[in-house]
Amino acid sequence: MRIKQIDHIGIAVKAIKDAGKFYTDVLGLEIQDIEEVADQKVNVAFIPIMESEVELLESTHPDGPVAKYIESRGEGIQHIAFRVENIEEALEELKRKGVRLIDQKPRNGAGGARIAFIHPRETNGVLVEICERE
Ligand code: ZN
Repeated sequence: MRIKQIDHIGIAVKAIKDAGKFYTDVLGLEIQDIEEVADQKVNVAFIPIMESEVELLESTHPDGPVAKYIESRGEGIQHIAFRVENIEEALEELKRKGVRLIDQKPRNGAGGARIAFIHPRETNGVLVEICERE
């Protein structure tokens, strides 16, 4: 597979409104958009930096994955996403190499991306997402 770049870093926060201030007021970055991903029970705030992004993830339900993450580990970096050229090919290659996946098939992520997660047991506890964008 061809990894093109770090697409984004997903950061679990209790409230985008509060956590976003560090990125806007201190770092001088801009929140470009906030999108609800109902599937994942999150609101995602996109903060572009060149070709990559910081994504602030705020749970919309107490039983969502981000809420559970914060409950057990506190706020912080929740996942890192690598952009690939072709996500189907990347998933096939990972399966061939015996890598355990959370998603066997791509699903729709925030910002129109197609995404899939690798099981964190394969990656020393780091939740790795691969994603493809147009
Ligand atoms: Zn992500």
